[in-house]
Amino acid sequence: MASTSTANDDPERESEESESALETARRQLRRAATLLDVDENIVERLAHPKAVHEVTVPVERDDGTVDVFTGYRAQHDSVRGPFKGGLRYHPDVTRDECVGLGMWMTWKCAVMDLPFGGAKGGVAVDPKSLSDAETERLTRRFAGELRDVIGPNTDIPAPDMGTTPQTMAWLMDAYSMQEGETTPGVVTGKPPVVGGSEGRDAAPGRSVALVTREAVEYYGDDLAGTTVAIQGFGSVGANAARLLDDWGADVVAVSDVNGGIYDSDGLDTHAIPTHDEEPEAVLGHDAPATVTNDELLELDVDVLVPAAVGNVLTAANAGDVSADLVVEGANGPTTSGASEVFAEREIPVVPDILANAGGVTVSYFEWLQDINRRKWSLERVHEELDAEMQSAWRRVREEFEARDVTWREAAYVVALSRVAEAHATRGLWP
Ligand code: NAD
Repeated sequence: MASTSTANDDPERESEESESALETARRQLRRAATLLDVDENIVERLAHPKAVHEVTVPVERDDGTVDVFTGYRAQHDSVRGPFKGGLRYHPDVTRDECVGLGMWMTWKCAVMDLPFGGAKGGVAVDPKSLSDAETERLTRRFAGELRDVIGPNTDIPAPDMGTTPQTMAWLMDAYSMQEGETTPGVVTGKPPVVGGSEGRDAAPGRSVALVTREAVEYYGDDLAGTTVAIQGFGSVGANAARLLDDWGADVVAVSDVNGGIYDSDGLDTHAIPTHDEEPEAVLGHDAPATVTNDELLELDVDVLVPAAVGNVLTAANAGDVSADLVVEGANGPTTSGASEVFAEREIPVVPDILANAGGVTVSYFEWLQDINRRKWSLERVHEELDAEMQSAWRRVREEFEARDVTWREAAYVVALSRVAEAHATRGLWP
């Protein structure tokens, strides 16, 4: 598809490229509100978090010294159920980032019609600078500081950047020790041996693949032979790549942080080590050509799946994207400026809050299994996830077809109308 945009010349768009997650989230909320008949007081309330907890987390290092870190839990909205969202360990974690990401979780849970609200939290720390023992001490202390604000019926954390199923196991153990009873439902994304769900790790990638298939078919093509480029070969990217490959798509390019590989005949995605199997090993795999991460985004493919980090599609490069369809695997890979360019160029972008929502959906299944003390088989998880994704896709498609809007706006209409209606029905108290 030819590039038709001159978005780079627009200074207003350029200034948006550095926008924070909170600015993007607020902009998207206000845009969605213009499409609906929603009480503006409810919209104003939803532009703010219900609460943000900031805690101090002192950690004894292995050499006996003590370092003090700052942790956050931003709870955006709980009108439809307990707060739900990840905890990340990353040096750039800030209060505002947690609020913005928490707001996205509210919409993600609402678009999937899960009985959860949205939250996000984390500790501003470089996890690579911590030994396993230090990470465990940090996690247990953080769990202690958050004890009064999390719980299986109030706020249920999950893994995110820099945290793992093991982190969730420590958090669950620390919380359970303080409660005096084993409480697996306080976190999701745990190892299955302590109440985690089968299929949780692969779920966001699975939902990306399912939604990609639906979108390709919606635009009148067959997944078999569809060419796909995927940025990021971690949990989301690699699982999506392998499923799409299994279903007949030609995954012609994949990348990790160091760059990517390209084969116009399609790569053998099962032979390329994922981030989990061997970190940053994509370039070590034999392929006819290599590409940089920037080049991968501009490849002439049918489908582009950014599945690594946020803000990679900007007003500066959206005009050069050649894919006919973008499916967001990562959270927030497209800036507001890039979204406008894609809308002008009529390149559909299936948004993150729908495409990668398989993760939080299987987290919901995990929570159900924990509170019912009843384990589901992997087959059941897949069956129920596929059904939930189909149902959310159909609901968003209805709005997409009924209104002259983008896929992102259609998803926000579905989510915001559910959340706003719940607020209107419950009322403002006192
Ligand atoms: P991951 O750590 O498993 O893998 C990330 C991959 O991206 C790795 O291959 C890494 O090398 C690559 N990468 C890192 N920085 C990069 C860069 N600057 N350019 C190109 N590639 C880069 O992470 P993940 O769990 O797959 O998460 C990827 C994205 O999906 C994130 O935005 C995350 O928030 C989002 N997401 C994850 C989940 C989940 O449960 N894992 C759920 C929903 C959304």
